[in-house]
Amino acid sequence: MARRGEQWGQMSAAGGLTGVVAAGVRDAVGLVLPVRCGGCAAPGAAWCPGCRRAARTPPPDVVVPAGGPAAWAATACAGPVRVLVTVHKDAGRADLRPELAVLLAEAMHRALATDPVLRTARTRGGVLVVPVPTARRAGRRRGEDAVGALATDATARLGDPRVGCRRVLRHTRAVADQTGLGRAARAVNLAGSMGVRAADLRIVEGAVCLLVDDVVTTGATLAEAARAVRAAGARHVAAAVVAATPPTRARPRSDQ
Ligand SMILES: [Zn+2]
Repeated sequence: MARRGEQWGQMSAAGGLTGVVAAGVRDAVGLVLPVRCGGCAAPGAAWCPGCRRAARTPPPDVVVPAGGPAAWAATACAGPVRVLVTVHKDAGRADLRPELAVLLAEAMHRALATDPVLRTARTRGGVLVVPVPTARRAGRRRGEDAVGALATDATARLGDPRVGCRRVLRHTRAVADQTGLGRAARAVNLAGSMGVRAADLRIVEGAVCLLVDDVVTTGATLAEAARAVRAAGARHVAAAVVAATPPTRARPRSDQ
C-alpha cells in the first residue's frame, strides 16, 4: 500500500485544479508520470474498466439512526470504490471526481424519483442539495472541500434548474476523525457539531433538502446534518451518497 500511496501522491500535484485545465495538466504530467487508476493503481487511466465494473455492485441497505433521513446509495463501499473515495478525499486526486460524480448523480436521481416529497418539490418549488461539510483530518489538503466540489459536479450532471446545490452547512466545533470509532462514539463525536451558515438561514427555512456525502457508514454524519438543517427550518430532508458501507464493516469490534 505504501507504494500505491506514493503513486497517488505523485498525482496530487495536478489534483487541485479543475476542468479543462486539470485535464491538460494531467496529460502533460502524464508524459513523465503515468496516470494510475484511483481504485487499483494500474497505469493508463484514472479509473480503469475493471474498477468501473466493480463499482456496479448493488448497494447494501443504507443504515441511518432513528430520526435520521431516508438515504439512497449508488453502490457498495468496498474494494476499489472504497479506495477511490479515500484517495479522492485524502490525497486530493480531483481528477477522480468525475467518476464519483457520475455515481453520486445516480443516487441523487434515485432519491429524487423515489421520495414523494422530493418528487413533488422537483416540479414545484425546488430541491436544495446540501453537501455534508468535510472534516479536517491529518494529511488532508487544507481548505479543500472535496464533498462540496463533488456535490456541485453531481448536481450539474442532473441538469435540472429546480435542483440547486449550495454549501450551507459548516462545522460549529472541531470533531475527531471518525475512522476507528464505533457507532455510539461516532454519534457522540458529531452531536451538535454542524450548523447552517447565518447568511444561508433564509435559503434553508422551509426548504426541501437533499443531503449528499461520499460515504455512509453508521449514518451518524447524515443524522447530524439532517438535525442541523431541520433546526434551521428545513421542512423535509432526505440523503444521497456515492457508496454505503456493508453492515459487517459498519460494526467495528468496539461495537459488539
Ligand atoms: Zn482500476
